[in-house]
Amino acid sequence: MPCSAPRRKPSSRGSGGSPSSLSPPRRRAGRSSSGGPTWRRHSTRSPGPPRRTCRLPEELPKPARDRRKRDEEFEPRALRVRFRPEPAYSLFGRLAARNGETSCRAFAAEVGLRYFGEVLAGRRVEAVENLAGLAGSDIARYTAVSSGPRQVVVLNGETLLARSWAPKKRRYCPRCLGGDLRGTVENDGPRPFRPYRRAWWDVVHVDNCPIHCCELLRACPACAEPIDADCAWPWRCRCGGDLTNAAAIPRSPNECSLDRYVVGRLGGCEPLPSRILDGVTLEAAIWAAFYVGWIADHGRALDMRRADHATKAAARRRGLELLADWPLSFEALLDAMVEDVPSRDMQSLSPRTAYGALSMWLARSPEGSLEPLRAAVRNHAEKSRRSAPSGVTFTEAANQLGVTRKTLVAVAEQLGLLPSGTDLRSRIVIDEEAVSKVRDLLTRTLGQRHAARFLGISVPAFQRLVDAGVVATHDPVVTGRRDRTYSPQELEHLLGRLSGDVPECHDLVGDLAGLPAASFKGRVGLDRLLPAVLDGRVRPRGRLPSAPGLQGILVSVGEVVALHGHRSDSMLLEEAAKRFGVNYWGFRGLVRSGLIPGRQALGRTNKRWWVRRADFERFCDEYGTVRHLAERYDLSRIVTRAIIDKLGLKHAPVPPGHFVEVYRFRDVEAALTGSQEARDHRARRKRRPKRPLK
Ligand SMILES: [Zn+2]
Ligand SMILES: [Zn+2]
Repeated sequence: MPCSAPRRKPSSRGSGGSPSSLSPPRRRAGRSSSGGPTWRRHSTRSPGPPRRTCRLPEELPKPARDRRKRDEEFEPRALRVRFRPEPAYSLFGRLAARNGETSCRAFAAEVGLRYFGEVLAGRRVEAVENLAGLAGSDIARYTAVSSGPRQVVVLNGETLLARSWAPKKRRYCPRCLGGDLRGTVENDGPRPFRPYRRAWWDVVHVDNCPIHCCELLRACPACAEPIDADCAWPWRCRCGGDLTNAAAIPRSPNECSLDRYVVGRLGGCEPLPSRILDGVTLEAAIWAAFYVGWIADHGRALDMRRADHATKAAARRRGLELLADWPLSFEALLDAMVEDVPSRDMQSLSPRTAYGALSMWLARSPEGSLEPLRAAVRNHAEKSRRSAPSGVTFTEAANQLGVTRKTLVAVAEQLGLLPSGTDLRSRIVIDEEAVSKVRDLLTRTLGQRHAARFLGISVPAFQRLVDAGVVATHDPVVTGRRDRTYSPQELEHLLGRLSGDVPECHDLVGDLAGLPAASFKGRVGLDRLLPAVLDGRVRPRGRLPSAPGLQGILVSVGEVVALHGHRSDSMLLEEAAKRFGVNYWGFRGLVRSGLIPGRQALGRTNKRWWVRRADFERFCDEYGTVRHLAERYDLSRIVTRAIIDKLGLKHAPVPPGHFVEVYRFRDVEAALTGSQEARDHRARRKRRPKRPLK
């Protein structure tokens, strides 16, 4: 509606056709002196400059202020339908339709009222009553009357925010309208005028008709446009479409629970009692249900960007459900919220840290009727603060003890301090007694660094001993090297086994050295040397009391060097390559291709390759290079190469990157002994005279 045109001049007033039912124009002065009820705005506002207001279509007379009638002056129009629990604007629409108007605004202008500013806004209800001949009915009860500074509307005694009230949206339930139209009630007036609008269709929190369990619709089934708020017929679109023909979208009774609660309070259906919410104003009750449902479904933080219409409706339903058995489910919800509060916050627990959006809303809302809910939340926070356990969390205890949380959990499990089925990721609180038990156990064990120092060796050397299984880890064994612990008793026992009953000596004589030094000098790793000492291959010669751990056990370096002799069944790859007559990398290719088995030493630094002598001999009997072939079959290398190339003999395959050609004697024997070239070559060789010696 364009609102830019200036108000009409006074001279044009009354120029349109004036209906006979209207009383003649009256001057304002005469009106105020009559002593009758006056319109508030006339009496309070002083006449100022002309206001800007909306323009009406030309054929409609503007209801000028001077022509305004008092409520009791409206004469009844024939409606001849019974009063229904409907808002005044619905009755007004039916009245307009009965009088042949399809536009409420046009009818309002005809009778001297304003539709959008007055009838639809819930003002001048009595005028509508008189117009319908229903004076004295409680139609005001079903009309939302907006007033007051807080912009609230009151409907059937229930208070709603004005923004929760949207009559212009014109939603409807097709089945309610269809029931009115095709109802079987006798003597209820002409059928087309029976359907009426329900007040709760205009409450924005109501999405479904709880009576028929179907969604409220906005669009006309014929033209698919939203219904015009000005349309007089409650069951018809401006295009003539029949709203009772619209296909209902069914909803389960569960999905209509909140709608049933709201409509029940508005008097539209059987009330759904709720112990706590019934004492709260309707708007606050709906929001309480929303916030309770939200923190139950989405946690304490409220992110309105995630809250679309369907999510909000679901949260309201959930909240209504949780508040139904007040206070049981509600208390359980608050308990769950307190559960995941960090323990450092428990001593100063406030409702806001515990319950987030719910308590923020309760604190900010000026609604007095929410006091029971506020008290419940406050008391729960107070109770949780008092009953907060006095112990420490696992993380805090682990920090105190200087171990990781994982170690602490393992130790606690070993000591039976953790009940089975404890969620290890959650906040676990243990008391001081349990912490001291764990501390006792931990002091009886050594960490890796301390254990290495105890043995007098470096940490990497100690790790090699652990990897070789010479030193056993002490329970608890936890993944991750950092968390391994070792028992000092076991390490002491190992030292005792190594040194035996050897006498103390106070000087290094001959080639004696402590075990780590002997290991270095003899080029034998500690992980191999210690087993040799334990099984007697190396004999301990004495003990230095001043040196720590293994450094104090003296052995002869010569004996350590002699340990290498035990490896005579194998040889290094370098040696094997030299003996076979190829370079090292070529021989590695033969090992890699699997022609000769090889193995790599397992030491950390000494990763050289070895082959067994027996394997090497077998390989040399079976395979040979061109040089070996020439020697074996009495040919020159050039001729051998020529024969191989001519006959296309294949050498054994080796992985790419290795350049070595070996041939299996068995495969090439026939070619090199029986072929024509070979025979010719041997004959020429015999004929050729030997070079004379100089
Ligand atoms: Zn319905
Ligand atoms: Zn339509």
